[in-house]
Amino acid sequence: MVTNDDLLNLKAIVGEKFVSTGESVLNLHSHDESYHPPVLPDVVLWPHSTDEVSRVARYAFERKIPVTGWGVGTSLEGNPIPVNHGIVVDFQEMQKILSIRPEDFQVDVEAGVVYKELNKTLSRNGLFFPPDPGAAATIGGMIGNNASGIRTVKYGATKDYVMRLIVVLPGGQVLRIGNRARKSSSGYDLLHLFVGAEGTLGLITEATLKLAGLPANFMALRVTFPEVRKATDTVFQVMNSGLSPAAMEFMDSNVIGVLNRDRNLAMEESPTLLMEFNGFSDEGLKAEMTFIEEICRENGCTFIDKGIGKEERDRLWEMRYLTFESIKRQHPGLLPLIMDIAVPLSHYSNMAAFIKQEVGDLLAYVFGHAGDGNIHVIVMDLPSDRSRWSRVEEANRRIVEKALAFEGTCTGEHGVGIGKRCFLPDEHRESLELMKQIKNLIDPEGIFNPGKLFI
Ligand SMILES: Cc1cc2nc3c(=O)[nH]c(=O)nc-3n(C[C@H](O)[C@H](O)[C@H](O)COP(=O)(O)OP(=O)(O)OC[C@H]3O[C@@H](n4cnc5c(N)ncnc54)[C@H](O)[C@@H]3O)c2cc1C
Repeated sequence: MVTNDDLLNLKAIVGEKFVSTGESVLNLHSHDESYHPPVLPDVVLWPHSTDEVSRVARYAFERKIPVTGWGVGTSLEGNPIPVNHGIVVDFQEMQKILSIRPEDFQVDVEAGVVYKELNKTLSRNGLFFPPDPGAAATIGGMIGNNASGIRTVKYGATKDYVMRLIVVLPGGQVLRIGNRARKSSSGYDLLHLFVGAEGTLGLITEATLKLAGLPANFMALRVTFPEVRKATDTVFQVMNSGLSPAAMEFMDSNVIGVLNRDRNLAMEESPTLLMEFNGFSDEGLKAEMTFIEEICRENGCTFIDKGIGKEERDRLWEMRYLTFESIKRQHPGLLPLIMDIAVPLSHYSNMAAFIKQEVGDLLAYVFGHAGDGNIHVIVMDLPSDRSRWSRVEEANRRIVEKALAFEGTCTGEHGVGIGKRCFLPDEHRESLELMKQIKNLIDPEGIFNPGKLFI
């Protein structure tokens, strides 16, 4: 338990105004966007510097108080829920873009920078940070979960963009890891140990990120198919055609239906692919478009909406960003269990067919970053109704087991958090033990984001 003395000592480190035990603040930091039950922290802190984070970590270590990092809490697997209470370290006061180095395609940022704001600033230099999870996530939270998103098929995930980190370890030690070179073979890859660690090994205070040049021109298509397999086979064929989509998303007819109802749209309620391609000239993009249309027609597509240019791209894509909100709004009182499996592309069609069969009797929405072999299933139901919810959990288990049988993963991008812990023994087998040893070595008291990754 955090005592009054602890509060006084923590206030001495970060400043009185930046420590709160107020009810609404604790509530706000007790849950993410998942169905996992909220747990209140004892106190929330807003440090301003690596030094303050280090002093907080040292203090917490001495007092054995749990410490959980917090970006904006948009995780989908309970990742930032402070399940053992203690201190939540919110990085909102560490939002500085420290240095933009356009000549090196790099930027140095504090962990609390929101990537959308970062990209607004970078666009003045014709640059951007490509991983795009959609929600208004922070760089610290994206590194914590190794987030990815719609552009990952072309540009990669957060891990591909992290070059240097400043990390505070549980005892307060500050590590500076990585360098500015575009490649390095120097020693163990400690940098990536902290990417996707969900704050269980260290608190990231600063990062140097690789950047990409903004695309010159855009082309997008929304294509509907008579059945799921026709759409998913198209994914495989486009990916194998030598083209390089900047995004390739699948949505089943339930997703299109919920968007129609929620947004008053009139899209054909059939399995749908959304695709984006980037290029230099309209001519080049038109040639690619003709080729893709041919592949879609060969797979029996029933409708193609297409356009060239940024405005057309935004028109065709707007609804994709609204999916999660629309599903939630259309089912008031129900909560989402969100699956996030990823499989090799050659198994994508069979995986999608298996999922549709498994969730046939549930209120389920199937969509995902198809070009990465990533499928999300959102099932809306009531966790408090045990018999119904165990049916949802059973479908989740069977779907993950199938993904693992296809040599895939239980989580393509949302992280393990609370909900995926039970699948780690099957996915990682003997290497899970080494992960636990690493955790014990770095965090012997088990105070950094306890209750996550491992059961
Ligand atoms: C509508 C919606 C759509 C989404 N779509 C995607 C998607 O397409 N792809 C995707 O990958 N995710 C997606 N997400 C999930 C989520 O947005 C991402 O995982 C995001 O990276 C979380 O960032 P955050 O700032 O909210 O972090 P939080 O949720 O606050 O924290 C994430 C994890 O990182 C830890 N953490 C936070 N800050 C630090 C730090 N400075 N140092 C160390 N650890 C830290 C936390 O303890 C936690 O374990 C979506 C979420 C929503 C609500």
